[in-house]
Amino acid sequence: MTITAAPLYPGKKIDLHTHIGDFGGWANVSLTETELIKLMKDYDVEWSAVYYTDNELVRKAVEKYPKELAGCYWPNPHEETAAEKVRVALTKWGFRGIKLHPLFQAFLPNDDIVHPIMEEAKRAKVPVLIHTGHSPFSLPWSVGELAENFPDVNIVMLHMGDGHGLYIQAAINTAKKMDNIYLETSAMPMGNKIKEAIDVVGKDRVMYGSDAPFGNPAVEIAKATASKLTDEELELYFYRNAKTLLDL
Ligand SMILES: [Zn+2]
Repeated sequence: MTITAAPLYPGKKIDLHTHIGDFGGWANVSLTETELIKLMKDYDVEWSAVYYTDNELVRKAVEKYPKELAGCYWPNPHEETAAEKVRVALTKWGFRGIKLHPLFQAFLPNDDIVHPIMEEAKRAKVPVLIHTGHSPFSLPWSVGELAENFPDVNIVMLHMGDGHGLYIQAAINTAKKMDNIYLETSAMPMGNKIKEAIDVVGKDRVMYGSDAPFGNPAVEIAKATASKLTDEELELYFYRNAKTLLDL
């Protein structure tokens, strides 16, 4: 399956959530770095944050496209060397963030095994992007516990609670309480909640992601466009917030 372009909101963008690689099995989606770059050109995306479990694949893609792809290291916190690997990626590979998937790798966001990784994020001053929206491992309240323990680390709740209304509300409420939590909105079905999140949490803490190749940029861009944001909010949501967060 491949994704092709459709005309949409034309302003420049940064996509905080993309993957390259082959997600076989039930997902049956894949994207190469060349296809991602093409997709970015089609939708006026200046930078994409990119992550995949095979970090070497991402490293090679970032080497090939250093002005387009912002690599985020995806560690498995169960590995004893996880924090060390993160440090190498952040200091030697030019990676700009860390991605955690508590559901996929079966840990709670605030588990002790995550804390050494958070220390690396703190040291390198990079954000930690965390999948949210699925019980029992990736719920907004659990990310809130982690954010409380690491007030100096910027944490992004990817999917902003995803497909469950209660989790979406919890993502907004938790981010409202903690300045170091940001929200990314891919795969979140309640389009109007983007406007609500901006009003409640702040215009500088909600941002665009497509989750390609799981998500389709045309859908995700339309969602925000339909959410009736002001011109300033659109620019912040699609571009400036991620630029600041990833230090691009
Ligand atoms: Zn994803």
